[in-house]
Amino acid sequence: MAARNQIETTLNTLLAADSFNDYGPNGLQIEGAAQVRRIIYGVTASLDLIDAAIADGADVILVHHGLFWRGQDGRLVGWLGERVRRLMAHRINLFAYHLPLDAHAEFGNNAQFGLRLGLVADARFGDQDLGFAGSAGDNVSVAALAARAQAVLGGRPPLVLPGDGRALARIGWCTGGAQGYFEAAIAAGVDAFLTGEVSEPQAHLARETGVAFLACGHHATECFGAPAVASHVAGLFGIEHRFIEITNPA
Ligand SMILES: [Zn+2]
Repeated sequence: MAARNQIETTLNTLLAADSFNDYGPNGLQIEGAAQVRRIIYGVTASLDLIDAAIADGADVILVHHGLFWRGQDGRLVGWLGERVRRLMAHRINLFAYHLPLDAHAEFGNNAQFGLRLGLVADARFGDQDLGFAGSAGDNVSVAALAARAQAVLGGRPPLVLPGDGRALARIGWCTGGAQGYFEAAIAAGVDAFLTGEVSEPQAHLARETGVAFLACGHHATECFGAPAVASHVAGLFGIEHRFIEITNPA
């Protein structure tokens, strides 16, 4: 058993939870049992994940995408009310870390995705320094980089905007919905940029700047941060932990 307050303090400190201008509150979003023994982690606090955690006997859930976002009207009705009701009925603590979990230099989504791609960040770019950049290493061509990403992401092929076919010296990446970071990545001098999602403008930017763009999946690229940080913290407190993957084609 461990005290939820201590886990909360450890997570908030480790992830520098208060130092981001984010789209929702980071940290404890739903307060459950004060003493905990089992932590479940996943990408998003969906009803499927909540039900899986209940079935698993968890008293803590840690996710990247929590329940509360800027722009919501605040009413706990419909699907949001149902998620909250189940968590509170089972006294499950919900921790959510959005940008802090992308940014952490060791446990974050970007660091962990980069690790699997054979990339080590030696520079950061973009709003709040969320973009990572480093030497291309073995990923000398866009095709090689795309193949590496596909292997890392369980066989899911990325959508590739190939750029001008140059050899890759520098690669930038930012997990999730960071297509808006493409211009900052180009300005930072990368030859290719990986993220989760693509929007219409990136196709033109890739053609006109020659920098390759790879959309590898929002969910797919964000499966690594929550397991890394939650298993680390569970280890510190000696509590049980388990990752639950709720498949998502996005
Ligand atoms: Zn995300």
